[in-house]
Amino acid sequence: MTIAIYPGSFDPITNGHLDILKSGAEIFDKVIIAVSYNANKQGFLPVDIRTKLIEESAKDIPNVEVDSFEGLTVEYAKKRGATVLLRGLRTSFDFEYEMQLSQTNHALYGDIKTVFLITKPEYNYISSSCVREILLNKGDIKGFVPDPVCEYLKSI
Ligand code: ADP
Repeated sequence: MTIAIYPGSFDPITNGHLDILKSGAEIFDKVIIAVSYNANKQGFLPVDIRTKLIEESAKDIPNVEVDSFEGLTVEYAKKRGATVLLRGLRTSFDFEYEMQLSQTNHALYGDIKTVFLITKPEYNYISSSCVREILLNKGDIKGFVPDPVCEYLKSI
């Protein structure tokens, strides 16, 4: 049984993240999507809200578990018995950063492999930071985020 961790800030989860999660769930036996946080750094949404929104957005994918963790991703992966880190790639900028991150994680924990999935073109421009920016300026985030996220963000 291959368990993959899909780590990220997911602040908030977007349609791009969800697309990678769905594809990952087709490939691996189980995908744990895990919100990584730092208790000393405040994000946009509290971690419990981020996880709740992921749960609602991914409720139809049976082999997905939602969790959160603080600290090194590889330590969390060890604890959960995962041998794969799942990450999404949009642009060459993502690639530069992700390559270093993947090599660092492998240096820390030789049993871990990072698997990259390329996003669909229609989600290529979507990021959590652009969603936050649109929201801040009272724009419409429909089409950028899953419906439960859209409803929640419109209500706050
Ligand atoms: P981080 O803070 O670790 O960058 P994010 O929540 O921004 O976490 O993203 C988590 C993962 O999802 C990263 O691998 C990122 O490249 C990927 N990702 C972000 N947005 C998209 C998107 N629109 N399509 C595909 N992958 C994405």
